[in-house]
Amino acid sequence: MKAVVVTPSVKDSSRIQEIPIPVPSDYEVLVKAISAGIDGTDYEINQGLYGNPPEGEDFLVIGHESLGQVKEIGSGVKELKPGDYVVCIVRRPCPENCSNCARDQMDMCLTGNYRERGIKGLHGFLSEYYVVQPRFLVKVPDSLKDIGVISEPVSIVEKAITETYRIQERLSWKPERALVLGAGTIGLLSTFILTIRRIRVSCLAKGEPDKVRQEIFSRLGINYFNVDDTNVETLKNRGERFDIIIEATGFSPLAFHTLDLLALNGIMCRTGISGGDKLITIHSDRINLDMVLGNKVVFGSVNANRTHFEQGLRDLEIINKKWPGLLGKLITRRVGFSNFKDALTKMETDIKVVVDL
Ligand code: BGC
Ligand code: ZN
Repeated sequence: MKAVVVTPSVKDSSRIQEIPIPVPSDYEVLVKAISAGIDGTDYEINQGLYGNPPEGEDFLVIGHESLGQVKEIGSGVKELKPGDYVVCIVRRPCPENCSNCARDQMDMCLTGNYRERGIKGLHGFLSEYYVVQPRFLVKVPDSLKDIGVISEPVSIVEKAITETYRIQERLSWKPERALVLGAGTIGLLSTFILTIRRIRVSCLAKGEPDKVRQEIFSRLGINYFNVDDTNVETLKNRGERFDIIIEATGFSPLAFHTLDLLALNGIMCRTGISGGDKLITIHSDRINLDMVLGNKVVFGSVNANRTHFEQGLRDLEIINKKWPGLLGKLITRRVGFSNFKDALTKMETDIKVVVDL
């Protein structure tokens, strides 16, 4: 079968390679790939900046945002049947099977030796078929099959927002306003999910929103700030404060400057991965004092477990009912398998780019 592979650490090494079709054991499932989403991580892997091959191999099949259909099940598999649509959880337990990995919370692995399909030590889903244990597959309702490929990024947002609320159980908290930093896939999905949680959402990002973003912002009632006109200082001076800030740009200076916009008892969740080595000067005394006197929380969130995928699928159904057709617009480009290179080349109007297998 055909697979998109890279040689990790080598810039722009992605190519199609012929590899054997995997054979499922009695307790595994053979999945036929339908499509795979591309994100910044795939882009960085192809830049040679991130990613590791499986032990003893010199290439990595990329792709971690999956949508597939069960083709064949082992004789011991009861949870799924051929024809089911599925999305695959990305992380696998660490070899030490730490206490979090042991209870399927690999997203909170304690050793850091977890593996991630398509990213770290295990082949991913940009191949015609893949084999997975049912415990790592989440069934996608037929009604969501057209947008099921965004389930993985949705799970990232669900984890961020669930953790935000769990941490705030420390107090009696009725959040009203949220600020989302960034208008890429994670930022936009955050605006959807916070809106259905009845939060008034603003979004701060670069540039004027294009047609798709404009439509999303106007249908959801999102207040948009173009950082070139309305920067953090302006918002601060205007007295704008937010109970929740979700950072989804990976632009680390913004993650620090926007601490000034947190309301009393507010919470900032950071999801953006900053690959560079930027160095900035901050008013550490002032920020520290403000955090202490304001009971403020800043935390990071990565990856997601089964509960977040399941919550995400429930929310996708709610969003689909509330704003029919809108989620599909997040997929701004679809490319065929043999044109996968186009998907790994960024275009200005991209939100989510998907490779159809
Ligand atoms: C993926 C996560 C993963 C993270 C770090 C992200 O792009 O969506 O599942 O944990 O990269 O490798
Ligand atoms: Zn672990």
